[in-house]
Amino acid sequence: MKYRIYSMMKSLKGDDMKCYICGNQAIKKNNRSNLCEKHYRFIQMQKTAKGDKKYVPNIFELEKLVPKDMKCQDCGSIMHWIDDTNRRLGAVLQHYRNGTLGITCLSCNTKHGLMVGDSYKDVPIGHKLCRSCKTIKPLDLFYKRKDCKVPYPMTKCKQCNHEAHKQWRINNPEKYIASNKKQNDARKLKGG
Ligand SMILES: [Zn+2]
Ligand SMILES: [Zn+2]
Ligand SMILES: [Zn+2]
Repeated sequence: MKYRIYSMMKSLKGDDMKCYICGNQAIKKNNRSNLCEKHYRFIQMQKTAKGDKKYVPNIFELEKLVPKDMKCQDCGSIMHWIDDTNRRLGAVLQHYRNGTLGITCLSCNTKHGLMVGDSYKDVPIGHKLCRSCKTIKPLDLFYKRKDCKVPYPMTKCKQCNHEAHKQWRINNPEKYIASNKKQNDARKLKGG
């Protein structure tokens, strides 16, 4: 009897396990292998929704939301269930503010979170949402980051950037004096 239980447990740990929901090949994730990629993700979606105190759809509801060609319904990118090397295109559950649900890429899901009323798609070309004042402004009202290959507009608009800098100066007077001195010295060196 003891032996039978042992061999049962052993077979549960086998690598060719099937998903207990659909019978497809299971994946090995967190040392468990009783779910396929999709259903592993479904369970994750349910946990996240529960944790966020949002509506938790059941497996059948989730199944209906899956786009046929795995195209994100917001941006059209091809999503995947699990690929840790490209998390931005991972399929996640999107709770739209009008109460409907969808499966979108993580990238679009994050943008929704930042925008009031799911309206990020309405941002006109050449404009950007300032994360600080939550206002849509033309791109020339944003400084560009120069540490990227292609200069990329900052997350805060110029005005908010100035405000933030002013606040930093007030909170860190010593650091401000030090950085000012450094800049002046550098200028002197260049000039002389
Ligand atoms: Zn499955
Ligand atoms: Zn997307
Ligand atoms: Zn701003």
